[in-house]
Amino acid sequence: MTDQLRRCKTCGAFKPSDDYYRGPFGGFVRCKACCIAARKAAYKRNPEYTKNLVRGYRAAAKARRLAETPDDTQAPFKSNLSEMARQRVGGPRIQ
Ligand SMILES: [Zn+2]
Repeated sequence: MTDQLRRCKTCGAFKPSDDYYRGPFGGFVRCKACCIAARKAAYKRNPEYTKNLVRGYRAAAKARRLAETPDDTQAPFKSNLSEMARQRVGGPRIQ
């Protein structure tokens, strides 16, 4: 977090970076208040579309989470390591 003020492209106000959502390119050009206002306006204009958009974000996030879960191919190796670690616990303690 920096104390540098950024100018919101929508309302023109200078705000600290904490007042902006972080995005893929270092942050959005709209402040949080304007983002929320824009989302509300979009929802009013087209509720179904906005609902589907949010559903899409959630599905993408879920897919990403599943993709990050380690697969089972490494499991035997891992359990072997933890078994070795457990055997060492009985040894002399390092101060
Ligand atoms: Zn703004």
